[in-house]
Amino acid sequence: MRPEILFPLFTSVQSLPGIGPRLAGLLSKITGPNIIDLCWHLPSGIVDRRYSPKVADAIPGLIATMTIEIFDHQPPKIRKLPYKIICGDESGKMELVFFHARADYLIKVLPIGEIRVISGKVENFKNNLQMTHPDQIRMPDEIQDIQSVEPVYPLTAGLTSNPLLKAIKGSLRMTPQLPEWQDPAWVARENFPSWQEALFKAHSPQDEFEFSDLAPARMRLAYDELLADQLALSIVRITQRKKIGRAISLDTGLVKSTIDSLPFQLTGGQQAALTDILSDMAEPYRMLRLLQGDVGSGKTVVAFLAMLRAVESNAQAALMAPTEVLAQQHYKTLKPIADQIGIEAAMLTGKDSKSYRRQILSDLSAGEISVIVGTHALFQEDVIYKDLALAVIDEQHRFGVHQRLMLADKGKNADMLVMTATPIPRTLMLCAYSDLDTSRLLEKPAGRKPVETRAVPIARLEEVITRLRGSIETGSRAFWVCPLIEESELIDLEAATDRHAFLDKKFPGRVALIHGKMKSSEKNAIMKSFSDGLVDILVATTVVEVGVDIPDANIMVIEHAERFGLSQLHQLRGRVGRSEATSYCVLLYSPSITNTAKARLNILRETDNGFRIAEEDLKLRGAGELLGTRQSGLPDFKMADLVKHQELMLAAKDDARLILEQDPDLTSKRGQALRILLYLFQKDTVVQTLRSG
Ligand code: ADP
Ligand code: MG
Repeated sequence: MRPEILFPLFTSVQSLPGIGPRLAGLLSKITGPNIIDLCWHLPSGIVDRRYSPKVADAIPGLIATMTIEIFDHQPPKIRKLPYKIICGDESGKMELVFFHARADYLIKVLPIGEIRVISGKVENFKNNLQMTHPDQIRMPDEIQDIQSVEPVYPLTAGLTSNPLLKAIKGSLRMTPQLPEWQDPAWVARENFPSWQEALFKAHSPQDEFEFSDLAPARMRLAYDELLADQLALSIVRITQRKKIGRAISLDTGLVKSTIDSLPFQLTGGQQAALTDILSDMAEPYRMLRLLQGDVGSGKTVVAFLAMLRAVESNAQAALMAPTEVLAQQHYKTLKPIADQIGIEAAMLTGKDSKSYRRQILSDLSAGEISVIVGTHALFQEDVIYKDLALAVIDEQHRFGVHQRLMLADKGKNADMLVMTATPIPRTLMLCAYSDLDTSRLLEKPAGRKPVETRAVPIARLEEVITRLRGSIETGSRAFWVCPLIEESELIDLEAATDRHAFLDKKFPGRVALIHGKMKSSEKNAIMKSFSDGLVDILVATTVVEVGVDIPDANIMVIEHAERFGLSQLHQLRGRVGRSEATSYCVLLYSPSITNTAKARLNILRETDNGFRIAEEDLKLRGAGELLGTRQSGLPDFKMADLVKHQELMLAAKDDARLILEQDPDLTSKRGQALRILLYLFQKDTVVQTLRSG
C-alpha cells in the first residue's frame, strides 16, 4: 500500500484550485494525471526578465522589463493588420504590437496616459523599437514580481504557459517533506538539496547552470529516479533468484549429437554461451539470462540446443518471437532438425484456425509436443503446458520487463532465456537488463564477409538501378526498404506502393511488395516467393522483420536512410551478407540530410561491429531515441537522461547493490525511506515482494 505521506502527490491535478477538467486534460497529456507528474515536469529553459533598460537603450533581441507610459492606441484599418499601441518613457518611444487583438481588452489593460510595466522580447522593425504581444503587463508597483528569472516549460497544443506555471506552482505547494533516502555522505559530497528543496530549486533556476543537467537539484532528482529504478530491478532480480528453480541437467547425448549433425561448427562464442546456459539450467534456481548478439551471430541455434536439454529431461521448451514472420522463420530452421532427431515440434500463433489451435493446446497439455515456437499466443491464459522447463524469448526489446515476468510464471519454475539482436551499450544494459545475466556473441560465424556499404544520394537512383540490374542478371536478389514514418502507416504504404510500381516497370514481374497491413498468409506467400527466387526484388515498408533469414538475398537498398537510427540500419543491413557471394548495402539519402545523419551513415560505412555502432548511436542521439524507449523495454525516465547521467547511473547501480546487501528487506530507517522512494516512482509491485518492514 502506498504510504499516506504520498497521497497528496498521487491526487489528480484537477483537485488544485483553478484547474478544471479541460485544463486537467491538457496537463495530463504533457505530464500525467497527478500532482507528482506536474512536479516532475521540469523547465526546458529560462527567461531572464531582470534586464530593465530605458526605452532608448533597449537592445533588440533581448527580453526586457520596462516601465512605460501609454501615449496612443492605433487600431488597425483592416483586420489583418496588427493593433498598435505607442508608448515610451523620457528616453524614447516604442510600439506594442498585437495581432487579432480585442480592442476593449487592450483599452482596459493599457489605458492611454497611464504607467504600466511590460516585459517581453524587444525587436527592431523598420527602425522602430517594438514589442509584439508582451508576456507580462503589470501595474508599476509590481515590477519586482516580474524582474526575475522565469522557468520555461515544454507545452502542448492548447496549453499556454501561464496556466501551466500556475498549475506547477500549485503542485509544488502540495509536496510534503519526505524522509531522506539517500546516503548522507553522498548527499553531502554531491551537495544535493533535500528532495523537496530539489524540486523547488529545479523549478526556479536562476541561471543557465541551474537549469542544466549538472545542477545539484536536477542531479538529485535524476539520481532519485535512477536509484529507484536500480533498486527495483535489483529486488526483482533477487526475488527471481530466490525462486526455487529446477535442475535440468539430464544428458542423454541429444545436445551433443545434434551439434555434431549441424552442417557447421559452433563458434567459440556460441559454445561459451551454450555452456553458460546449460550450467544455469543445471542449477536448482531459475535461470534468467540474456543472450545478446548481432543479427546473424547464431543465437537461434544456441537457443535450440538449450531447448533440447529441456527435452532430454522429458520436459517442454517454448520459443516466443515478437512477430509471426519471425516465428515462422524460427520454425523453418528448427523443424527439420527436430524431425531429423525425432523431436515433436509445433507452431502456434494468434492467426491459427480454431480447430488447429485446439489440437495444439491439447497436445501441449498432454506433453505430446516437446518444442513449440510461436508468438505471444504461446503465453495466453488458456495455453497449458504439461511441463514447461525453458522459455526462450526472442527480440526481447519489444517486450517490457513486466511481460518478461509474466512469461516466467507460465512454467513450473521455468528457466528463461532472452535473446536480443540489438546491441545495447553497456550503460543501457545496466538500466534495462540489470535483472538478467548476460552472454554475448561477439564474433560472427566463420566465412561471413562484411557487407559493402555505400551512401548514395537519391538523385543517383537511376545509377543504382542500373547496377542492380547487373547484379540481378548474375543471380542476386535484393531487399528494398522504404522508410518508417511513425505517425502514418498510410503514408509509409503509399511510398512503398509507389516504389513498387516504379521498380516493377523496370523489372516487370520480378518485384514483390510486403507490408504490415497484409494478412499473414499473404505475407508468408510473398516471403516464400522471394526466398524461392520467383521474384528478385522485395519492396518492404518499415522493417523487413528483424531476424528474417534469406541467405540468397545479398543486396539491401534502404531509401531515406537518414530517417532510420543507426542501430536500425545496422539491423537491416544484417539481413544480407549471409551467403558466399559479396553483399551490398546501399543507403539512399535525400538532399535535405543533416550533418548528424551524414555522420551516422559514415559510421555504418566504417564498421559492422554492432556494439560499436550502438555506442556511437548513443552518442549521436539520446538514449530514448536509440531504441525508441516505448518499445525498447528501457525505462522512460522523466528526469534522468541516460546519456548525460551515465556516471549517476553507475553510482545508482552500486548504491542499490550495497543497500540490498546490508538491508535486503528495506527495514532500517533508511530502508523505510527507500520504500517511500520506490512508491514515489510507482514501483508498488516491487515493494510488495519485500517482507513487511
Ligand atoms: P541470429 O538468431 O543470431 O540472428 P541465427 O541463429 O538465425 O542468427 O543464424 C543465422 C544463420 O547462420 C542461420 O542460417 C544459421 O544456420 C547460421 N549459423 C548459425 N551458427 C553458425 C555457425 N557457427 N557457422 C555457420 N553458420 C551458422
Ligand atoms: Mg534470430
